[in-house]
Amino acid sequence: MKPAGMALLFLAAAVIAGALFAAARQPEGKPAPGGGAEKEKAAVKYSKSGFDVTPLTQAKIDELAKGLTKEESDVILAKGTERAFCGNLVDNHKEGEYVCRLCGLPLFSSDAKFDSGTGWPSFFKPYDKAHVHEESDRSYGMVRTEITCARCGAHLGHVFDDGPKPTGQRFCLNSVSLTFHEKGQALPAASTPIKSETAYFAGGCFWGVEDRFAQLPGVMDAVSGYMGGKVRKPTYKQVCNGDTEHAETVKVVFDPTRITYRELLEKFFKFHDASQVNRQGPDYGTQYRSAVFATDSKQLEAAKAFVDEQRQTPKFAAKGVATQVVPIEQSGQFWEAEEYHQDYHMKHGGHCALPEE
Ligand SMILES: [Zn+2]
Repeated sequence: MKPAGMALLFLAAAVIAGALFAAARQPEGKPAPGGGAEKEKAAVKYSKSGFDVTPLTQAKIDELAKGLTKEESDVILAKGTERAFCGNLVDNHKEGEYVCRLCGLPLFSSDAKFDSGTGWPSFFKPYDKAHVHEESDRSYGMVRTEITCARCGAHLGHVFDDGPKPTGQRFCLNSVSLTFHEKGQALPAASTPIKSETAYFAGGCFWGVEDRFAQLPGVMDAVSGYMGGKVRKPTYKQVCNGDTEHAETVKVVFDPTRITYRELLEKFFKFHDASQVNRQGPDYGTQYRSAVFATDSKQLEAAKAFVDEQRQTPKFAAKGVATQVVPIEQSGQFWEAEEYHQDYHMKHGGHCALPEE
């Protein structure tokens, strides 16, 4: 074979090997930005009290379960019931939090504990409704409501409707399903809320931008509002007239362990056309300008570097980037928009046009 033929054959083999390697890697890799991420979103959940309550994978549950004693796993995994008056938390009157023995999620608080006389720790409400999952239990010829940890599925006990005021509910727990942390004690990471961060993006009509950010896994909340202007409590009408200098802005509260600020910037540049000056499609005016309002020096540096990087890319090299990167000292306060603007696309569907007022 001629050297050229050899080289070609070698090249073909390398391409095939590369493709095989990529195909083999795919399932284990991080989901590709875009397609895979949207799928993942459905599963990522946060509670009102700021906890990640995304159901754990079976592999993670199995790993945590290795730390359980036989007595604990009989109740937590096999849905058993400990004997009445035998649990160590029945007579616990200390102030503090009761967290899931398996995954650490806070489930009940001492301020909702009461003496039910049943011999099992009893509470009239959970720490957060989203932390305790309820399902019908028809075992032993009875119809009861079983309660499990919403994050790891650990069996906790049952809930009955013969509890005290104000809820009238009685959450009847197994002591072994809980770990008690006395008030003032340092809580483990699994028992503390997410340390969320906030970012602000202006990219034209806020309905669309809010809707897109709200769908990202790791985004805990997206709120439409106004930023970068001079008037206090601006109204939509004032902003649209252009005399307040505000930009339609979306406040994004995110979980930095699931999505980074850099990834939000990348998404932001996909969600709008960063080359347009004071305009997005049919919407004209300074309130539709493209801007990033940085909350601290770290965000400011990251956003500036990102915009500079984008300027060098083929997409923006000729057109330029219109996005302004504004430090917090200059952007002023974020003002939440009127209620009818929130979740607009979720409520109404459709596209961005001025609403009837
Ligand atoms: Zn749990």
